[in-house]
Amino acid sequence: MRYVIVGAGAAGISAARTLRKLDKEGNITLVSKDDKVHSRCMLHKYLGGERSSKELSFIAPDFFEANRIQWMPGTAMTRLNSSEHCIQVEDGSSIPYDRLLIASGAYYLIPPVPGLREAKNVFGFRDLSDAQAIRSAARRGARAVIIGSGLVGMDAAWGLLEQGIKPVIVEMADRILPLQLDKAAAAVYQRLFESKGCSFRLSAKASGTRLDEDGYVRALLLDSQEELPCDFLVVAAGVRPEIRFLEACGMETGRGLVVDQYLSTTVPHVYGAGDVCGLSGIWPNAMKQGITAAKNMCGILTAYEDVYAMKNTMNFFGLPSLCIGDINRIGSETQVITEEDTNNYRKALVEDGVLTGILLVGNISGSGIYQYLIKNRIKLPVFGRDIFRLSFADFYGFDNQKGKFVWNKEACCS
Ligand SMILES: Cc1cc2nc3c(=O)[nH]c(=O)nc-3n(C[C@H](O)[C@H](O)[C@H](O)COP(=O)(O)OP(=O)(O)OC[C@H]3O[C@@H](n4cnc5c(N)ncnc54)[C@H](O)[C@@H]3O)c2cc1C
Repeated sequence: MRYVIVGAGAAGISAARTLRKLDKEGNITLVSKDDKVHSRCMLHKYLGGERSSKELSFIAPDFFEANRIQWMPGTAMTRLNSSEHCIQVEDGSSIPYDRLLIASGAYYLIPPVPGLREAKNVFGFRDLSDAQAIRSAARRGARAVIIGSGLVGMDAAWGLLEQGIKPVIVEMADRILPLQLDKAAAAVYQRLFESKGCSFRLSAKASGTRLDEDGYVRALLLDSQEELPCDFLVVAAGVRPEIRFLEACGMETGRGLVVDQYLSTTVPHVYGAGDVCGLSGIWPNAMKQGITAAKNMCGILTAYEDVYAMKNTMNFFGLPSLCIGDINRIGSETQVITEEDTNNYRKALVEDGVLTGILLVGNISGSGIYQYLIKNRIKLPVFGRDIFRLSFADFYGFDNQKGKFVWNKEACCS
């Protein structure tokens, strides 16, 4: 069997590893635009100078040899020829496949602000090459503006602060990290970043740029009429699944690559996994999708269950947090429980006695138990703030009939 994987990110690498485990003899080829395997979640550490590019790798140095995988780094797939069962790469050559996995991730968007797309000093923050470009622009004393204060924008801010640069961050929402945190937790992180030298423009929209004659942005204009002078800009305003090279291939795409529960695309023997499918944008899910797709490519029918569409952990300047579920989705039936002291903030969402979301800032111990409760929709045995004091010791044991742990026979009514 000839397996071809496109993409050397979390999904592509975990698929390659699984394929080799399941098929000792198959021929595996991995094609990637990246010329180094690297973790995007660690890019800020490279930007901040804490890790070298080598230290961003998440595979063993002999991964490809040990697993007998033919890796083609720095090679972009340009076309799918499904009738001939082959893909085309940028030098015009073709690679035949019996099973193909598209795991091409996502690309960053540059908002349609006049001047931004054509300027020479505007960078995204998705690949190692982006981080390298930002690092070269980040000379001591340089003025930086970041558009977007999601996880990617704040990662970039952290990296720049570590380089001694104090960026200004422009955010359309009224708080930072709007998808990852609630208002109270966001304020904690905002104060932390401000104490390190960042400044924020919240509820602010970029409306234009002032370009010099060489095509460099010298200031970002906001709709409040404020001008933010800059030497370079980082855009962290969202991503889109990388399906641009699949246009006119007869493959169904919507916002992302369309896949069924087995991660099969609409083209026979072609699968999708990771951010390219647009099912979620987080590392653990990309890995799980890669593993699931590989099983299906080997004929082991396995449905993908997206348990944590939203799960985020972060740790900036020693302040960790964990968020599972959509902590800002509060319906009429949702019970919101919070607890706060000088060092910690905790929030739980409960619906019909079941935990649906949790946010822990500061002390994030016990996170395993909350993940388990949310994933298995287990009825809580306690009410109110006692939720924050649960431990695995409170479980009664494993219920074979239900196939999961339960609290105790009386309290467990799920
Ligand atoms: C700065 C940053 C911080 C993040 N932090 C976190 C975090 O803390 N926690 C978390 O869970 N998630 C985080 N994420 C998201 C996480 O990195 C992604 O969900 C994950 O990388 C998705 O894996 P993937 O394999 O689908 O895609 P990617 O990792 O994007 O890999 C895509 C691969 O496809 C290749 N490719 C693309 N097009 C082609 C083509 N035409 N031909 C050949 N190869 C191609 C690329 O070169 C790359 O190798 C972060 C992302 C960024 C950018």
